[in-house]
Amino acid sequence: MEPLFGKTQDELTQIALALNLPPYTGRQLAEWIYKKEISSIEEMTNLSRKARSLLSNSYRLGWLPPTNVQTSSDGTKKYLFSTQQAKYVETAFIPEKNRNTVCLSTQVGCKMGCLFCMTGKQGFQGNLSAGEILNQYRSLPEWKSLTNIVYMGMGEPLDNLDEVLKSLEIFTAEWGFALSPRRITVSTIGITPAMIEFLDRSEAHLAVSLHTPFDEERQKLMPIQQIYPLTEVLGQIRSWDFGRQRRVSFEYILFRGLNDSPGHVKELARILNGIRCRINLIRFHPIPGTPLESPDENTIQAFKAQLVRKGITTTIRASRGQDIYAACGLLSTKQLVQPDRDG
Ligand code: SF4
Repeated sequence: MEPLFGKTQDELTQIALALNLPPYTGRQLAEWIYKKEISSIEEMTNLSRKARSLLSNSYRLGWLPPTNVQTSSDGTKKYLFSTQQAKYVETAFIPEKNRNTVCLSTQVGCKMGCLFCMTGKQGFQGNLSAGEILNQYRSLPEWKSLTNIVYMGMGEPLDNLDEVLKSLEIFTAEWGFALSPRRITVSTIGITPAMIEFLDRSEAHLAVSLHTPFDEERQKLMPIQQIYPLTEVLGQIRSWDFGRQRRVSFEYILFRGLNDSPGHVKELARILNGIRCRINLIRFHPIPGTPLESPDENTIQAFKAQLVRKGITTTIRASRGQDIYAACGLLSTKQLVQPDRDG
């Protein structure tokens, strides 16, 4: 049976009309699904008994609880959700002093093949539907306490653009969860045409994975550089009017001896000149099969200080959930779908 959860109000209205129900049923359905807490269509008490029965014949409410959870010593939790394709995705819940963030996955695995990423090593196994993306928010036991949403889990969000845009619409629409787009950040490695469409059709913040300002180096880390070079991505960002409220940030994972030199700081300052942005420095968590390592703490702090001296707002992202493989770049369900015989 098809889930109602994950459908826009327009789609819910179409469903109602197809069942010969009044058009305002679409609005009522959206209200039940996105604003109230019910566990079945039967509980939609302002719908006639006939309407509920017709809907129940073909549809189900559609949110699904996680199938597993691991808790880190720092309080971060990693939830496992099953998908319609009988695969799994991971979702991270990151509690902090003044905010609680959920990190959403958008694909099962990923096709982008970034050298430093466990999800990339898993390969691509499918796109999530808008409902499956939203379900990672709504079915989290902590969902009512969430203050921020980041699309930074498994997969490249802009490689699943239609479903991501639909999920953003449902998150922010008045008839949906009515969340502020200023609480939502979508991350991308820089798929230029999809990025332009995202900027045009959504108001959520943008985070671009940069990782090095030098083309050849970036190509080795991120194969996408060959198709959509950073200069092209930055050119589009530079010409976009972000207004005062919307934010663009650049993610920068530090790798020892590779992208942590004063020369990198200088080039970063040059290529980002004229873009109102911030850089988030991320500590690298070593993954099997790559020679990459993290710099020591002094190098990380010095890199940040040099960027700040260049006038770039820079933060060092706290490393969360490393012990349960919930940290950046560590999400992977490879062992669930393909048993690791090497142990
Ligand atoms: S870093 Fe992002 S885009 Fe690159 S392989 Fe991992 S999930 Fe895909």
